[in-house]
Amino acid sequence: MFDRPLKILFVSSEVVPFAKTGGLADVAGSLPKALATVVDHGLPHNDVRVVMPRYKLIEEAGYLMDFPVWFADRNHEAIIRQREIEAYFQGAQQTIPVYMIDNYHYYYRDGIYVFDDEAERFGFFCKAVLELLPRLNWQPDVIHCNDWQTGPIPLLLKTQYAGDPFYSRTATVYTIHNLQYQGNFPKEVLRVLGLGSEYYRPEELEFYGTVSFMKAGIKYADVLNTVSRAYAREIQTPEYGQRMEGVLRQRSDELYGIINGINYHEFDPKTDPRLHRNYDAAGAEHKKENKYALQREMNLPVRDVPVLGLISRLVDQKGLDLIAEIIDELMRLDLQVVVLGSGDKHYENMFREMKERYPQKIGVHIGFNAVLAQRIYGGSDMFLMPSRFEPCGLGQLISLRYGTIPIVRETGGLADTVNEYDPATGNGNGFRFREYDGRALYSAIARALKLYRDDREVWSRLVRNAMEMDFSWARSAVEYLQLYREAIEKMADRRGIRIA
Ligand code: ADP
Repeated sequence: MFDRPLKILFVSSEVVPFAKTGGLADVAGSLPKALATVVDHGLPHNDVRVVMPRYKLIEEAGYLMDFPVWFADRNHEAIIRQREIEAYFQGAQQTIPVYMIDNYHYYYRDGIYVFDDEAERFGFFCKAVLELLPRLNWQPDVIHCNDWQTGPIPLLLKTQYAGDPFYSRTATVYTIHNLQYQGNFPKEVLRVLGLGSEYYRPEELEFYGTVSFMKAGIKYADVLNTVSRAYAREIQTPEYGQRMEGVLRQRSDELYGIINGINYHEFDPKTDPRLHRNYDAAGAEHKKENKYALQREMNLPVRDVPVLGLISRLVDQKGLDLIAEIIDELMRLDLQVVVLGSGDKHYENMFREMKERYPQKIGVHIGFNAVLAQRIYGGSDMFLMPSRFEPCGLGQLISLRYGTIPIVRETGGLADTVNEYDPATGNGNGFRFREYDGRALYSAIARALKLYRDDREVWSRLVRNAMEMDFSWARSAVEYLQLYREAIEKMADRRGIRIA
């Protein structure tokens, strides 16, 4: 085992604060900070760098260099720009470079996804990343790839770049943040990647009549992981495997689960400038002032009634049909519901209609709004996440941090982070249900409401317990460092080289 700080390249299609559509961006914006500053085995800090596409919405990014990239049978221009993120941790400060791959044709568009030429856009991104590193003269020990947009990197390293001495000591880690989005494209995409038709076989990239970028990452990376232990198990079954279960089972021994953390500086009710009133675990009673401010903001009656928050992409994954199933029954109870989300029109309209039917009890904001999100985390008493599946979930972690008790379906990362409150022992940090079923959700909400109503003192203790849990990145970052070392060892074994 080698003992030295690592050079880690983190590759992601979205990174907070530059571009975000979901939890991946949060991870990409915060895990690198933790990796750069965490003290592991007393070793000095790791050299961590991030790379992403430069989208039109990213206004400023300083020029670093440009070069041609041979891709899809011709040269394309890659302009490299650079931004930085600052990491502070336990007195340490590190500046993390964020390289941005710019190309007018591929990225100068409104929005981040979803276009007709996604395979080309992200295929080019992957190729340009591998062309960039030698020009920086920076040889990473590990390239950490994330989701289908980066799946071609492990593939290219083991095919086109297999003989390249620059990459002869570089290992790859591939993290699945959400198996549902697979990047499956027509067969012709092989040519775009510069690969022959021999790769169009089930043992390689062929996936139910398509070429799958997700499968490329799964098959070719040195090690794999997903963002909770429960999801790592679930995706090896037909119920959750999205047809990838067979491919994943083949690599079962090299498929790990590491729970995401959240950034404890950004998400801190004690200092969060977006809150009406700051509070900490000792002064959690001040949460109520945030509730009243939230009720005012959402045009709901201002009073001491339990408020249930929901902040989510409005897509099938999130279990919103269960809420539709029980909404009328729920509205008979003395409570308020506050919803923030955007996504499928079907769900947007569903919540708008609920708001029309129950204007005194439901507040709805359709759209993406990071400020309102924090006010909901701060001002709600309970937080709903009835997901059909949930790789990790950040919403429940942020809500715990803000003393907002999560009510979740027992799946994936929700199962790994939320435990049912047990009145007998006082253990547990939330309420959960197993069956994907409106009745089960209703009964979990009813248990939460009962405790809230019957015993405010016990409820306050539950809130304090939730706020005192630690889902910061420190622990998970150490697990990732372990995973990187494992990837390096596997790579070295496979190539028969020694790594010092
Ligand atoms: P996913 O990655 O599937 O969207 P996560 O729970 O892992 O789900 O992460 C979602 C993140 O995005 C959370 O930080 C949540 O607060 C935030 N979020 C989701 N929808 C919105 C919205 N409409 N406005 C603001 N923040 C949102």
